[in-house]
Amino acid sequence: MNRFAQTLAENSLSLRRARPEILQVNVGKICNLTCMHCHVNAGPKRKEMMTRETVDRIINWLAETDIPTVDLTGGAPEMIPDFRYFIKRTRALRLRRHVIDRCNLTILLERGYEDLSEFLATNNVEIIASMPCYSPQNVNAQRGEGVFEGSIAALRMLNSLGYGIDPELPLHLVYNPVGEFLPPSQAKLEADYKRELAAHFGVVFNKLYTIANLPIGRFASYLRHNNKLDDYMRLLIDAFNPATTDGLMCRNTISVGWRGEVYDCDFNQQLGMQWFSNGGGKRLFLWDIDPDLLEDREIMTGDHCLGCTAGAGSSCGGAIL
Ligand code: SF4
Ligand code: SF4
Repeated sequence: MNRFAQTLAENSLSLRRARPEILQVNVGKICNLTCMHCHVNAGPKRKEMMTRETVDRIINWLAETDIPTVDLTGGAPEMIPDFRYFIKRTRALRLRRHVIDRCNLTILLERGYEDLSEFLATNNVEIIASMPCYSPQNVNAQRGEGVFEGSIAALRMLNSLGYGIDPELPLHLVYNPVGEFLPPSQAKLEADYKRELAAHFGVVFNKLYTIANLPIGRFASYLRHNNKLDDYMRLLIDAFNPATTDGLMCRNTISVGWRGEVYDCDFNQQLGMQWFSNGGGKRLFLWDIDPDLLEDREIMTGDHCLGCTAGAGSSCGGAIL
């Protein structure tokens, strides 16, 4: 039994799925950045990318469901050749779906992507953008030199298109700690971000999501390399908060990989924890599953899950409590 499962058992809790409400699709590992905390180990040299055939299979499956939200992530999801095709096909479905792009902001300024922000605005795509701090030092340390300045330029461009201002064009920012500690209070940090970004850069946005760093991928390597992994795990275990378990994103999200394979969440995806059929033998892809039969399915967990239940909890939509 992993340490998370053990902690759940000690608190007389179990973790099972509810009705799916979000289809989160990780379309590939290619990214223009190589951030220190990246749980995907994404970067410019990664070759894993969703093909058009897989996009079509996913959209055809989605068309038969009433799942209301499609959340595109990566890497930098915008860098796969069929990113716009994916969005256009989703938008063309009979039942209207809400589409989210998890964007690192700097991609909007890269050559070849000049008209991307306009495309996103025209298609009413919500943007959830990484912005680990409102000061240049912390952002550049975590994400690379010049990333802060690029992010501010991209945010200004998005504001000029109505993002963060027009209710049809939500713009949310994501904070994650720059080291081995838990995020501070989301409400307080959101107020700080709003004040500082408006005062110094004239930038506005809707919500700030605080997300904890999970001990996997590049962040786990950093912890191991600096002999801090045990201390971080202890911090997560000591901060376990049973009240967060109902709101964990794995309860209502289906996570899909670039080949169409299915997981309980994007973190499990990076750890290769693909779903198996009930009999145990067959690895499952999205087109193998019936969304109406997922309620009460047991969620696959590991030690890393303790990052989602520490303190106020952490999910793709920020703090849980
Ligand atoms: S954290 Fe996001 S922006 Fe940074 S390397 Fe990973 S996928 Fe790219
Ligand atoms: S890591 Fe994934 S499976 Fe584990 S608690 Fe977090 S969202 Fe759920």
